[in-house]
Amino acid sequence: MPNLNIEKYRRMLAEERARICDEIDAVERDIGRDDVDGGQNEQADYDQHPADAATDTFVKERDIAIRDSFRDVIGRIDEAVGKIERGTYGSCDRCGAEIPKARLDAVPHALYCLECQDLVEAS
Ligand SMILES: [Zn+2]
Repeated sequence: MPNLNIEKYRRMLAEERARICDEIDAVERDIGRDDVDGGQNEQADYDQHPADAATDTFVKERDIAIRDSFRDVIGRIDEAVGKIERGTYGSCDRCGAEIPKARLDAVPHALYCLECQDLVEAS
């Protein structure tokens, strides 16, 4: 394992995870409230404000997309914590190269080196 201050990253990952869980809670409250409003005002929205109804649908879809991307990050954070437990934190999951410290400081849940990140995202 590269010479890293593991406890620092463990703390950063825990803080990031807590922050994103809060964000997910907030988005899910939004999504839930849309459901309630939609049920109560369905007729009015449909008859009088078709544009509003479309906007609601758009907002809800956006919220769900946001929630899904937050969940994605949680998955990566958990994976990064798993790498700490396994003693592989700081090395790329794909090629095994050392992930630059500056990258981990910016993105503590980075699982790949920059080169592999590009390849993974392109595939
Ligand atoms: Zn790599």
